[in-house]
Amino acid sequence: MVDFKQNVVAMVYDFDGTLSPEAMQHYGVLPSLGVSPTDFWGGVKAKRKEKSAEELLVYMREMLRLADAKEVQLNRSKFQEHGRGIEFFEGVRDWFDRIGQYVSSISQGSDIVLEHYIVSSGLKEMIEGCELAAYFKEIYACEFLYDPYGHPDWPGRVVSDTSKTQYLFRINKGVLDVNEFINSHMPMEERRVPWDNMIYFGDGDTDVPSMTVVMANGGHAIAVHKPDSEKGEIERCEKLLKARRVDYFCAADYRDGSDLDRLVKGTLSVIVPRILLRKAIYELKPLGPL
Ligand SMILES: [Mg+2]
Repeated sequence: MVDFKQNVVAMVYDFDGTLSPEAMQHYGVLPSLGVSPTDFWGGVKAKRKEKSAEELLVYMREMLRLADAKEVQLNRSKFQEHGRGIEFFEGVRDWFDRIGQYVSSISQGSDIVLEHYIVSSGLKEMIEGCELAAYFKEIYACEFLYDPYGHPDWPGRVVSDTSKTQYLFRINKGVLDVNEFINSHMPMEERRVPWDNMIYFGDGDTDVPSMTVVMANGGHAIAVHKPDSEKGEIERCEKLLKARRVDYFCAADYRDGSDLDRLVKGTLSVIVPRILLRKAIYELKPLGPL
């Protein structure tokens, strides 16, 4: 008999505003360019509007233009170095170990695999440099191409709000290598991470397509907001909940015993026994899954 393979739980995170309080460019890159976040993003938004351009492409170009104008060196290792300065919401640093222990504790000795993924419109190079990078099985985010001297000269990958969903399908189908074609048909029973084994974490409107895809397919989505949020942010989360784009929302407080910790563990205590039940049923059927 072929072993039951759909034993993987995937927790998929947006990055900025979800794991980290600020946009990652605020930690290091923008200060090194001598520009305040307000001025930088104000300029990006104005240019985006004036040219009817994609905001992500505009921000990537503006960063390079500013660096050239100010003769500040940016290369892959500089971005990674800036990534080391990224700060996280409370409890994030030990979240991955704690949640891993929790999943083991409810797995009844079965082999349940817990994986964490990042799908972000931030910069992959910076996330690779952050102190938690080793916890992520894959990091899908915007990337630069570099010239022979190591200078970034063109966007190599742009992960927008809608293109984020491509990476959810990659996780779902287990086709993680971006060089592999993703759109071939794959029956649900062959997919590595069934949708209802997936939990998506996001903080804002740019996560709506991802939340919608995960929820529409029977998976789980959670919205988080800053613990010291203003009314507007809470209202945005309430709208997501009312539209059933998320299962629930709460403050981005990842500490043991917080609302988020409690609710995520509650969600896992639905997902893990469901996997164990499916495994037991699968093992009773000599022909494999239905
Ligand atoms: Mg975000």
